[in-house]
Amino acid sequence: MTDDSAEKTAIDGLPPLRAVIEKHGLATKKALGQNFLLDLNLTGRIARAAGDLGACTVIEVGPGPGGLTRALLMHGAKKVIVIERDARCLPALAEIGAYYPGRLDIIEGDALKTDFAALAGGEPVKIVANLPYNVGTQLLVNWLEANPWPPYYQSLTLMFQREVAERIVAAPGDGAYGRLGVLAGWRTVARIQFDVPPQAFWPPPKVTSSVIHIEPRAEPISVDGKRLSLVTQHAFGQRRKMLRQSLKPLGGQALLDAAGIDGARRAETLSIEEFCRLANARPAAG
Ligand code: SAM
Repeated sequence: MTDDSAEKTAIDGLPPLRAVIEKHGLATKKALGQNFLLDLNLTGRIARAAGDLGACTVIEVGPGPGGLTRALLMHGAKKVIVIERDARCLPALAEIGAYYPGRLDIIEGDALKTDFAALAGGEPVKIVANLPYNVGTQLLVNWLEANPWPPYYQSLTLMFQREVAERIVAAPGDGAYGRLGVLAGWRTVARIQFDVPPQAFWPPPKVTSSVIHIEPRAEPISVDGKRLSLVTQHAFGQRRKMLRQSLKPLGGQALLDAAGIDGARRAETLSIEEFCRLANARPAAG
């Protein structure tokens, strides 16, 4: 699966991840976005990127065989709650739970259907995950659209494909600027922390990944997130067209007039504040 030198294993008294994967027959499934991180130095680096974990609960989506879970516990997380869809991983996770009594809660389920705020239960929470690529963007959008705001979480420390991470941190004028960048920039401060090469995973994905750390802004511009999402979706859906054209289904020039924005501009030139103005604008009746 990988040569011994690539796997750093001596972070705790639990067996090497490769042995865990073999013992529990965890052949990876592409449909579940399973690329497991075997390098425990790297999982440690992700846990550190999340900051101090001693005073909070960490929610981890998709623990798989538990490499990142172990790093989070090793780095002092008071409690870790994991949500895993693949039942084959549960016995491996139970072994980690037994090694750290009372500190690991294991939930078998679909993260897209999980009520994260209810799981947090009013306690300080950080979300940390090496996300399955097929549901990662949707999960992020759900976290960014959380209500009320500031949200129930203190931070999100997430691994994405590099290309997705670039879209999250993109600013106006960047080629990667779009709906994700507007939503993330509106309510949060997001920074790429470091890249992770394909060889760090089993099986190696085709592309480089990046770890991104996201913290909520205390007082973002007041606007309905769903409306902001809709406006950016239309504006960037036809990103080469002028806004008066791409925003036609939402009122076109009349909407742009109400927001005080030139209809000849293109989506990629608009600041986040201008997108918020558009989302808050209503075309004058008549
Ligand atoms: N955290 C592990 C690591 O870093 O090696 C595994 C990461 S792997 C990229 C993604 C994990 O998410 C897999 O274990 C997969 O089974 C799980 N998963 C996929 N879809 C999921 C969903 N909708 N809800 C919860 N877990 C999911």
